[in-house]
Amino acid sequence: MSLLVISPGKDPEAWVKALKEQHPGLNIYVYPEDHDKEEVEFALTWKHPRGIFKNYPNLKVIASMGAGVDHITSDEELPENIKITKVVDDRLEEDMGTFVLSLILAHQRNLLHYRESQLNEKWEPVPYTRNNQIKVGILGIGNLGQRVAHKLLQNDFQVIGFSRNKKEIENVESFAGEDELDEFLEQSNILVNMLPLTPNTEKILDKELFEKLPKGAYLINVARGEHLVEQDLLAKVDDGHLSGAALDVFWEEPIRDEHPFWKHPKIRVTPHIASVTHPKSVVPQIIENYERLQDGEPLKNEVKRDIGY
Ligand code: NDP
Repeated sequence: MSLLVISPGKDPEAWVKALKEQHPGLNIYVYPEDHDKEEVEFALTWKHPRGIFKNYPNLKVIASMGAGVDHITSDEELPENIKITKVVDDRLEEDMGTFVLSLILAHQRNLLHYRESQLNEKWEPVPYTRNNQIKVGILGIGNLGQRVAHKLLQNDFQVIGFSRNKKEIENVESFAGEDELDEFLEQSNILVNMLPLTPNTEKILDKELFEKLPKGAYLINVARGEHLVEQDLLAKVDDGHLSGAALDVFWEEPIRDEHPFWKHPKIRVTPHIASVTHPKSVVPQIIENYERLQDGEPLKNEVKRDIGY
């Protein structure tokens, strides 16, 4: 049994090093080096070339190198019986929590405005709203979203969450299912998108949704670029319904030259860095699942393939 690492566009060295350190006996191949496809039962991957998994007759598990699995589930030629796992990692959650908190504080305390004023050598105080007067709506309150909620509650923000199933989270009002989406949106002064990308959530951040948010609402998208209809966001920021947006993920990464987001005064762009997987902290759960597979035990952090996350 062998493990195949596939991460085109990303240097796999740190992953291989961490895997070898934590499981010296492991037989590892790095795609596309020469390897026996029949031997591979476990693949660790980020953005694999489409369609390749059908060439591995004994492949049983595909492990994502990150929390998102849309780069795997979107492969239309994925064999049906293969199990998919995702990363659940305390460090990843902490980084997401502090990053979203930073974006919210920067927005609420008008830091972009003051940077602009400074560059223009202008002394321009503007009023601000106190944290406890701001309600943050977390769209997709799962592993990462709950850590974001926790950080915000520690900083006196009001927090509400939306998910498929109702949640019991202390001090967070839970909304679930399509029937409760409008009520959730109507109250969200700041909307933080933390949904997984699935056929149900693609392009969910559109004009219709933005219009349900209160006037002056702010959008933070740290989930996936494909959740957002970019033209709709630009229209709603430019007509003043939204006060702005902070975007960490995009349809095309990096965004193309001349993209209207680059120089937009109310849109903050970061290069998909909200929360970055560190191989050393994630490899133990990969090895654990590799061993679970060998021992015929249930995997940890398995994705439900029928719902796509
Ligand atoms: P989880 O699977 O733990 O949480 C997803 C949440 O979304 C759950 O609460 C789920 O509801 C809810 N959800 C899913 N589909 C729907 C739907 N159709 N309607 C309403 N709610 C829905 O995911 P994570 O928190 O681990 O990760 C979230 C996403 O963050 C990843 O998929 C990835 O895209 C992104 N990400 C971005 C990073 C970055 O650096 N920018 C880094 C890491 C991840 P329920 O709980 O009821 O099932």
